[in-house]
Amino acid sequence: MAQIIDGRAMARALSDETAARVAAMVADSGQPPALAVVLVGDDPASQVYVRRKISECARVGIRSVEHRLPVDHPQDALLTLIDLLNSDPAIHGILIQLPLPPHIDAALVLDRIDPAKDVDGFHPVNVGRLSTGTGGLVPCTPLGIMRLLDSVIDDYRGLNAVVIGKSNIVGKPVAMLLLEREATVTVTHIETLHLPDIARKADIIVAAAGAPHLVRGYWVKPGAIVIDVGINRIAQADGSSQIVGDCATQELDHARAVTPVPGGVGPMTIACLLHNTVLAAERART
Ligand code: NAD
Repeated sequence: MAQIIDGRAMARALSDETAARVAAMVADSGQPPALAVVLVGDDPASQVYVRRKISECARVGIRSVEHRLPVDHPQDALLTLIDLLNSDPAIHGILIQLPLPPHIDAALVLDRIDPAKDVDGFHPVNVGRLSTGTGGLVPCTPLGIMRLLDSVIDDYRGLNAVVIGKSNIVGKPVAMLLLEREATVTVTHIETLHLPDIARKADIIVAAAGAPHLVRGYWVKPGAIVIDVGINRIAQADGSSQIVGDCATQELDHARAVTPVPGGVGPMTIACLLHNTVLAAERART
């Protein structure tokens, strides 16, 4: 029976650590770390994510400052807001909730954030730092994935890791972090041929494709560790919906360890956002 890696428990433990660091900062300077959260438009999923991020901030003592902007908010005005947040010493992290409306150039907006406040780790400077292994702020989901893997792996040397998905927010950065740990990494995607054969050679599989139950039992070699990043909403016959991952988890008894969906990578992502915010605030004060 595969070990289930409990992302909720690990996220709670990380948030407790973060809360202790926040308390130390407040005791030291009287000021908590602060995160600016910018939401443009009224996308329902984005609203849920933003609410959750803000309530988690409150739980660990991080001050959050919300900027809710209308869907037709001009790009120039958004850039001006980012400039103001960049120069505000009381703001330590800036989060622009994605996706942005189509009239806004997301790359331009993300590039405008001060890399030292870029708690999502999407700025090209932070991407460059990650790929050269020179510090910077690391994207939250990949950071969370590595913490989950570190809970079951001491030494990555000699291990084969297969990453399924090559997005800028998950696949590519997680591949960089696995390389940092000296794993041998194969990055695959929708155009990859013979994916089941490639996956079957892996000691570590990170599935981040957004394809429900893509990774079947026969793709996974006995004793492999499987991180399921996918969040897929499947409509049920009764009109309700169910969230499933990218792995057919019920076929993975022969794996060494797997993450559940929900309750695996998801909770770690928010805990890592709080972690990054405190890290940015600590660095700003030194
Ligand atoms: P994306 O759509 O940007 O990228 C998906 C990648 O997977 C692409 O590189 C594509 O080529 C590849 N892919 C798609 N279908 C494939 C298939 N059948 N076989 C092989 N490769 C395939 O997605 P993303 O933003 O990286 O997110 C991936 C999944 O992870 C989504 O389900 C998303 O909801 C989830 N996600 C979860 C969290 C979390 O906190 N748990 C965070 C971010 C993303």
